[in-house]
Amino acid sequence: GTALVGGGTGFIGSHLCKVLKSHGYGVIVISRMPGPQRMTWNDLNRQGLPDGTTTVINLAGQNVLDFKQRWNAGFKQNVFNSRINTTSSLANAIVSAKKKPSVFVTLTGVGIYKPDKVKEYDEDSSETEFDFLSRLCHEWENAAKLPKGTSTRQVTIRSGVVLGRDGGMIKQLYLPFFCGLGGPVMPGDQYLPWIHIDDLIRLILFVVGNQQVEGTLNGVAPQNITNKQFSDVCLSNLFEPVFIKIFRLLLVP
Ligand code: NDP
Repeated sequence: GTALVGGGTGFIGSHLCKVLKSHGYGVIVISRMPGPQRMTWNDLNRQGLPDGTTTVINLAGQNVLDFKQRWNAGFKQNVFNSRINTTSSLANAIVSAKKKPSVFVTLTGVGIYKPDKVKEYDEDSSETEFDFLSRLCHEWENAAKLPKGTSTRQVTIRSGVVLGRDGGMIKQLYLPFFCGLGGPVMPGDQYLPWIHIDDLIRLILFVVGNQQVEGTLNGVAPQNITNKQFSDVCLSNLFEPVFIKIFRLLLVP
């Protein structure tokens, strides 16, 4: 079948598209930039789902990990709109489609849960909104909701911070860490739910391929780490190789 991937150009999206193709899916990416095997959000709003779409996944959203960005009202609006508008465009396209796709997957965040040192959350934990990100997650999940009776199976994955060499938090924290600006910006003893990019991609594939999976999932590694532990591991992994390289340069003429 054909998979339509909103934000398929991004860190998670590009990993997913590669794997979908290797599993025999035709892939169409929705991007702000037109191109081959792509459509724009305007195309989607005007023309609806491409014929033959069996799988719809949304991974679009203005990046929130960019440390150069100031969190002013305009940026917050972008963060919000880029997720809510893309998600509701996809939901509307599914509602209007004569031939419904079999599955609609959206990725939101564990930011919906209030950080707590003791309380453990699961998919059934209902959370009230307590800050900008949790409000965003609620609206995001609401935007994805298809009317009752729609034949398309619906899954929301609440993802932890996605770790991988070539993107997300690792890539975007690399520079600040390297310049010595790294270190816990949030309380060090606060938990940092995370997932490895390969595990997240496998989870999405599992969800897409299994008719029984429906509703909300948490996409997180079973191991709990705190911000402090995370930044210590980052520091030792980023700096040690550099020092080793410098020593080699000094020792080996
Ligand atoms: P990226 O920033 O790598 O990619 C997201 C894609 O979204 C971009 O390639 C871009 O596509 C599109 N996009 C960016 N800004 C806008 C905008 N203003 N309007 C419309 N589209 C936009 O993000 P990730 O791959 O890391 O994350 C994908 C999704 O998963 C996001 O919604 C994110 O919130 C969510 N998520 C990510 C986590 C993480 O740790 N990375 C954790 C939990 C959730 P184009 O330029 O082609 O239009």
